[in-house]
Amino acid sequence: MLSKSSRLWYRNVRRKKTIKQKRLHALQGREDKKKAGFSIYFFLDDDLSSTTYSISPRVFVASKLLSTELSGPNSKLLKIAAPPSFLAAQQSTDGFDSIWSVCIKDDDIQVERAYTPLTGVDGDGNLLFWIKKYPKGEVGRWLHSKIPGDSIEMRGPLKTWRWEEGAYDEVVMISGGTGITPFIQLFNRVILKTTPTSHTRFTLLHSSRLPEELPPPVLLDPLTRFSKANPDKFKFHVFVDDKGGSISPPHVPPLKEGRITEKDLKSCLGLEKHQNAWWTRFFGKTAPQDETPRRILFLVCGPEAMVGTIAGPYGRNLSQGPVGGILGSMGYSSDQVYKM
Ligand SMILES: Cc1cc2nc3c(=O)[nH]c(=O)nc-3n(C[C@H](O)[C@H](O)[C@H](O)COP(=O)(O)OP(=O)(O)OC[C@H]3O[C@@H](n4cnc5c(N)ncnc54)[C@H](O)[C@@H]3O)c2cc1C
Repeated sequence: MLSKSSRLWYRNVRRKKTIKQKRLHALQGREDKKKAGFSIYFFLDDDLSSTTYSISPRVFVASKLLSTELSGPNSKLLKIAAPPSFLAAQQSTDGFDSIWSVCIKDDDIQVERAYTPLTGVDGDGNLLFWIKKYPKGEVGRWLHSKIPGDSIEMRGPLKTWRWEEGAYDEVVMISGGTGITPFIQLFNRVILKTTPTSHTRFTLLHSSRLPEELPPPVLLDPLTRFSKANPDKFKFHVFVDDKGGSISPPHVPPLKEGRITEKDLKSCLGLEKHQNAWWTRFFGKTAPQDETPRRILFLVCGPEAMVGTIAGPYGRNLSQGPVGGILGSMGYSSDQVYKM
């Protein structure tokens, strides 16, 4: 989910929890933690809080909420001015080279959660977030209650995953719900900007529960348009658990109903046609599925249950754990699968 160094730091901070904090921690429901997608759920010591501008990802800096917009039954788009330290450090700090997130702190109860700026720092020096509110999720509910002009404290950048130009022939991103946010950042910061000599092909398979829970048009429209204009470079597939009789909205490719399955993955990788080929029917066995070895990487981000189904559960202490689930049964190894 986050880089090893960030996880180690979280562990050190965790050790510093006071007894009072531990009691509060115990009150948080496990289900709630799962729903919010982050097992990182802790309280910071006061000495780590600061309003001075520093680029240390450990130090909170204050910034201003610029706008909020309802974008679904329980989600909002929030625009926050990037702290000046982010703007100054963008050129020199390597955290920004990666897919990165920030931790936002609920000031009232000193709980933080990580969120992904969808375009990184945009041209106007702002950070745009798509944030879901859960009935028992403290930071999401707190953020949804904020109005333009309110102060928001955040720290970052926190490296989520490092993109390496030329390292992969094929990158397949699989997301559920707000788990699409790191992939929208990857789209905006890498896929849209890759050079004509870049041969990496990208595929995004996204699933939401209902059509009205899909990310809003302002986020999906650019992906849909780019995939139509560049089908060899970027493929985009959208799933909903239940179409509810509605037709596909115009800002997405035709909706597929049901969860993402092995068949969907095979078809997006072009493996299905091999299995239906004449030699399979004639000899009764599958031909080599991938004649030219391709350097392929699967990135998975979504609710824990989905990550488990697609790629196997996380390991202990937020580690990757072995590859399991659908990708495990397809024979992919741990250097080909990354659980965000
Ligand atoms: C690196 C990272 C960055 C994040 N950034 C943000 C952010 O910026 N904003 C934010 O709000 N959250 C963020 N999160 C939190 C995270 O995305 C969500 O908490 C998590 O994805 C839950 O999403 P949801 O509730 O929207 O999913 P749901 O709406 O509950 O589910 C989405 C889909 O997942 C599929 N699914 C569910 N269960 C299964 C299963 N058992 N098998 C197969 N498929 C299943 C279904 O198709 C469903 O439609 C981030 C998480 C990570 C790891």
